[in-house]
Amino acid sequence: MTASRHEDHLDFGGNFVQIINGKPAFTKTTRHGINPATLERMEEVPVATRDDLHEAVAAARAAFKQWSQTPYRDRKQAVLAWADTIESYSTEFRDLLIAEQGKPLPQAEIETASTVAWMRGMAGIELKDEVIEDSHARKIITRHTPLGVVAAIVPWNFPLMLTTAKVAPALLTGNVIIVKPSSCPVTLLSINTPNWPFTPYGCLKLVELAQLFFPPGVVQSLSGNDDLGPWITSHSGIDKISFTGSTATGKLVMRSASESLKRVTLELGGNDPAIVFPDVDIEETAKQVATFAFLNSGQVCLNLKRIYVHNSIYTQFRDAVVSAVKAFVIGNGSKEGVSHGPLQNSLQYSRVKTFFDDIETQGWKVAVGGKMDAKATKGYYVVPTVIDNPPEDSRIVVEEPFGPIVPLLSWETEDEVIERANNTTMGLGASVWSANTAQAEKVARRLEAGTVWINNHFDISPVAPFGGHKESGIGIEWGSNGLKEFCNVQTLFSYK
Ligand code: NAD
Repeated sequence: MTASRHEDHLDFGGNFVQIINGKPAFTKTTRHGINPATLERMEEVPVATRDDLHEAVAAARAAFKQWSQTPYRDRKQAVLAWADTIESYSTEFRDLLIAEQGKPLPQAEIETASTVAWMRGMAGIELKDEVIEDSHARKIITRHTPLGVVAAIVPWNFPLMLTTAKVAPALLTGNVIIVKPSSCPVTLLSINTPNWPFTPYGCLKLVELAQLFFPPGVVQSLSGNDDLGPWITSHSGIDKISFTGSTATGKLVMRSASESLKRVTLELGGNDPAIVFPDVDIEETAKQVATFAFLNSGQVCLNLKRIYVHNSIYTQFRDAVVSAVKAFVIGNGSKEGVSHGPLQNSLQYSRVKTFFDDIETQGWKVAVGGKMDAKATKGYYVVPTVIDNPPEDSRIVVEEPFGPIVPLLSWETEDEVIERANNTTMGLGASVWSANTAQAEKVARRLEAGTVWINNHFDISPVAPFGGHKESGIGIEWGSNGLKEFCNVQTLFSYK
């Protein structure tokens, strides 16, 4: 089925509903999110009950019977038609994203475009049967069969793109899926912090729109309180959890999922290093490194979180990074010219504040920034800050602040900097910056990270596998490896 935006008007100003078995599912209790740039309250959203979850799982299990047998060609067509219609609502999704997440307009445009691009990219990869042996006696074939009911648990930093980047591969491979957008974890709540949802709005609209293209029960949404995640991970009717979020929560998800041996894919935190060689174009590289360190106000798993600069250019490079950071424009993402928005929520703001408090208590030197509050106006704004050569064992080097505060560190020898770059429990991304790409590649191959870039960072693709080493995750999303994680492998022996 196809639908143009002219036939089907979605109401982006209200009516944020969960979808269970193809229909809006209203809840007795609702709550609202907060626009992080203004602290104004947003529209009401549902609070799912445990019964809602049971109902959604039952509908999903029923829908799976038919959807798993739907020919690949038809599943692909439905995913692509859904992508086309999302694209026709790009402006509405973009504006909703700015309001709920806080990111500036150009970045919201990129995320909205990626939301569609990831669907189309993965729809271009078909997992075909593989013939392992075809002899006179027998034929051996490996197949990739769907797992069943998948639950997607999505974080608040890329709520649109990470929804379709999980839903599309699940559907293409014949699974059905229930999506849960991000909500505030009660374990982290302070007494004065209300338990509001973080980023449910765009995600709920994506799933509402999906109902035009998929049978009831194939794509569903549940938006709830902090208890919903654990209910999902412990539900015996769910076969796989596709989770993106923090390493701490990832461990809870895995523990809970192990009870029923659910499959899990965990995309978790990062502490990405950049290694800058002395032969780089200092101004240009510093600008790029600053961009990748502070993108989305430091709230990207793949932000550069440790910048190692060769000591022969350290001072010059630091000054160039400082100039680049001073050119950032902090403010409400909906305003023209703003390059960096607020943090997404008060919890994150409180966590990032502890790193700013450490500037004084630990005596860190500040290259630029240093004081937390960017504005007298309302909103979770933070001044982008660079810490000048702090000790290697300081929190700012060891932990992931997930905010706009980054350490710049100097190095002397190649072996030493590789050792330091790898000396972390994380292993998501890393980059090497040098005019000598052969030398950079030698270093890149020694780094312990799921993705390594040379003279770039955070360049991702729906057809390239993405995942973390060490405590940055388990498993892969995207690319053919990612699609396979939504499947069982079946080996078929056929005797002639
Ligand atoms: P989070 O772990 O707090 O929450 C992620 C999701 O898990 C949310 O939907 C949340 O409601 C849910 N959740 C919370 N507790 C749960 C539980 N006990 N059981 C099941 N679900 C639960 O993470 P966040 O703060 O939303 O996101 C920031 C973190 O995510 C950072 O560490 C960042 O590096 C990481 N991240 C990783 C990637 C990646 O691809 N590797 C991408 C984006 C973000």
